[in-house]
Amino acid sequence: MALIVQKFGGTSVGSADRIKNVARRVAKWRTAGYQVVVVPSAMAGETNRLIALAREIQPSPDPRELDVVAATGEQVTIGLLAMALQGLGVAARSYTGPQVRVLTDSAFTKARIMTIDEERLRADLETGIVPVVAGFQGVDTGGNITTLGRGGSDTSAVALAAALKADECQIFTDVDGVYTTDPRIVPEARRLRSITFEEMLEMASLGSKVLQIRSVEFAGKYRVRLRVLSSLTAPGDTDRRGSRLRHADHL
Ligand code: ADP
Ligand code: ASP
Ligand code: MG
Repeated sequence: MALIVQKFGGTSVGSADRIKNVARRVAKWRTAGYQVVVVPSAMAGETNRLIALAREIQPSPDPRELDVVAATGEQVTIGLLAMALQGLGVAARSYTGPQVRVLTDSAFTKARIMTIDEERLRADLETGIVPVVAGFQGVDTGGNITTLGRGGSDTSAVALAAALKADECQIFTDVDGVYTTDPRIVPEARRLRSITFEEMLEMASLGSKVLQIRSVEFAGKYRVRLRVLSSLTAPGDTDRRGSRLRHADHL
């Protein structure tokens, strides 16, 4: 059975209605026979709000404590999404990064994933449960909560896809793919049906935030099939479109 990892960004889980829409989309892929792991970000604006709150208390907060606060945004969305899936009759279970054991180094606020313990996720998948795993967070060897840097849920999803040898990692966001340049700034921008990892890395290093640069490096290195898609359409409608990232030898 094919396995996909589906990541949903902040706008995609930005309200109760949107979370329900995400659940409908996931349910559709399950009905089509796929095993699915879901990786949500925090609700739009939430991570900014949490960081601003911390800075109100302490202008330059201790990074360890900042991560404790910042990581809570994703704990909310995993629980809500698991509930929404259950409401549709889809068996689902939420996990924080530390619960899975997404092991990272101790570089608080910009930690790097070292290993992922995929045993619990595999057991769920084999019994038909959809694991809903918090993006952006992990735990270090000392048991401290860490976060992966802004936009880090992309990297969580790609790393999970690599660890589980998923058939595809789908990054659902608020645009329907990767464009020649930011479509919100340049309306004439064109959607690219496919783009090489090298081109994508260049785009990310020039500041395009459509994918976190580490997620692109990770997918290139571990040969993860990666696609960028819109979550703001009716479930199923555009799931065949989006932008595919191309490995060099697929040219
Ligand atoms: P998410 O919350 O889903 O992770 P992000 O805001 O991090 O979404 O990334 C999506 C945004 O990236 C789009 O709304 C778009 O404005 C911006 N963006 C910048 N450059 C590009 C590009 N070349 N192609 C598509 N989107 C881009
Ligand atoms: N919620 C985190 C952020 O805002 C991670 C992410 O969205 O990928 O940076
Ligand atoms: Mg993002």
